[in-house]
Amino acid sequence: MLEIRNKKMVITRKAHECFGCLEEIEKGKSVVYVSAKEDEQHKSFHLHEECNKTISRDQWFAGSSLYRGCIKDALKTSEQLRSINISSIDELPFVMTKSNDKVRYRH
Ligand SMILES: [Zn+2]
Repeated sequence: MLEIRNKKMVITRKAHECFGCLEEIEKGKSVVYVSAKEDEQHKSFHLHEECNKTISRDQWFAGSSLYRGCIKDALKTSEQLRSINISSIDELPFVMTKSNDKVRYRH
């Protein structure tokens, strides 16, 4: 499990890959630099400001759902769900915030 230790805003001095969406972060962008620990190992990575907001806002990413590419996967899942015509977009896993909801939707 990935445990976030510290976050700070930095300006990138070279291009990086965003840990959340796996898209490139251009050089000279204001991004979030994250220090984390996983299995007693130190890790650090960069996140787009938007991706950081998504992760911070969404409890779904807390704990074991936070991993490399998690936002990309969540977006993909959300697109799949949308294509199978569910009644409320607001209830997609991607925007869920309460852990109760998460349990309810996991069949
Ligand atoms: Zn990103």
